[in-house]
Amino acid sequence: MKLFDFRGGVHPPGHKHLSAERPIQIMPFPERLYLPLQQHRGKSALPVVTVGQKVLQGELLAKAQGSVSAPVHAPTSGTIIAIGDFNAPHPSGLPLPTITLEPDGEDRKLELGPLPDPFTLEPAEVARLIGDAGIVGMGGANFPSAVKLGMARKAEVHTLVLNGAECEPYMTCDDRLMRERSAAIVDGARIMLHAIQAQRAVIAIEDNKPEAAAQLQAACEAVSDQPLSVEVVVIPSRYPAGSASQLIQLLTGLEVPAEGRSTVTGLLVHNVGTAYAVHRALREGRPLISRIVTVTGGAVAEPQNLEAPIGALAEDMLRFCGVDSAAIARLLMGGPMMGQPMPNAQIPLVKGANGLLALTAAEIAGLPETTACIRCGRCASVCPMGLLPLEMAKRAHHDDPDGAMAFGLDDCMSCGSCAYACPSHIPLVQYFDYARGALAAREQADQRAETARRLMAERQARLDRQERAKLEAAARRRAEKQKSGAGTPA
Ligand code: SF4
Ligand code: SF4
Repeated sequence: MKLFDFRGGVHPPGHKHLSAERPIQIMPFPERLYLPLQQHRGKSALPVVTVGQKVLQGELLAKAQGSVSAPVHAPTSGTIIAIGDFNAPHPSGLPLPTITLEPDGEDRKLELGPLPDPFTLEPAEVARLIGDAGIVGMGGANFPSAVKLGMARKAEVHTLVLNGAECEPYMTCDDRLMRERSAAIVDGARIMLHAIQAQRAVIAIEDNKPEAAAQLQAACEAVSDQPLSVEVVVIPSRYPAGSASQLIQLLTGLEVPAEGRSTVTGLLVHNVGTAYAVHRALREGRPLISRIVTVTGGAVAEPQNLEAPIGALAEDMLRFCGVDSAAIARLLMGGPMMGQPMPNAQIPLVKGANGLLALTAAEIAGLPETTACIRCGRCASVCPMGLLPLEMAKRAHHDDPDGAMAFGLDDCMSCGSCAYACPSHIPLVQYFDYARGALAAREQADQRAETARRLMAERQARLDRQERAKLEAAARRRAEKQKSGAGTPA
């Protein structure tokens, strides 16, 4: 397959050797699982269980609300012990509504009848089952997969691209998944092809993962006599090749328009982990209740790739890998380029999180100091979106988020290439996050003010209606009195 190029990009050190040769380990259930109701884009899920209720593995705990949402299921059997706020996997550490499940250690599964062959089902029914399984984009996008498949079918997408690039440094969970569970990924890809009624799927893998490419190649060949073909394409390693827009550009030469959906190019991009989750949902009836996650970094005694239950705390996963939480100076959910810094290790694993990076004080102390911008332009030359990071950061720094927006903040995917390339070590992405936070806060304040205005107007209208009704009733009573008085003999 002919490959094209994308603009910019960088070559950060991979650090993948720490965990790449560690086969996937199944993590035992911790004492408690914390399941946020908002693990996806769209409306948060609505609880359908109550405190004290016993549940089975795979049982629905919270249902999807509205057209863009995803349900949440029980990762194991146990008792619901709380429904309330708990730490969210976000740098702010602000709480989110969360269901707390205490596992009973029996892992009893919800009984299911025989599952139909997905290829005998209508495409829309396959998408519905994927939605019912709570599957969201597992590469970090968190977008409900069924919604994305529905949009792709309407847009008449012709090719499904499975993203196995895993260009983020330190992360190796997709690599291990592709090496160890390749047949299931290929099966999931074929099921998704059926759901969108496209004929071709391509699995894109960076050239630094030859074992994964070989395993997937063999899995593709094993089903090559069947309809709905899947092929493997090896792409050059360059960050951020695994971003959807850059991957599409690499494979087709087409640019996804700003503010446009990738489906306008005729391609739909999903992560390999999502294809694996689709296989398990449709072939085993297992909703998305666990995921493969890389636990790594200098503070981790034994970096590993874990199959961990959704809702396990970061500290549970770190403990399983032999880490003393006190040794961690910085904790990221994800890798060093796009990961989110976590305020502490009491943060639950969510569906879209691919790893935990725990850095020691010594590693952080080794980071260079920030100095003034020398206007070298390197940040702009490596930006894959063709933006001017320096100009955006300058406006964010001067509390001018609108100015940052005017320079394309909305198109920035926070890949971190600019900050990585900056010789002055300016934390550019943090400036962008700050500007986004300011815009979000302003939007929230506007919404609150709008809601308050609407409520006030509604209240005033109600009072006016009541007053009018009172006056009308009084007028009616007077008129009736006069009428009855007029008929009375003097
Ligand atoms: S790379 Fe850093 S020093 Fe160079 S122009 Fe951009 S912000 Fe300034
Ligand atoms: S400006 Fe945004 S998209 Fe461009 S390199 Fe920086 S983080 Fe990546």
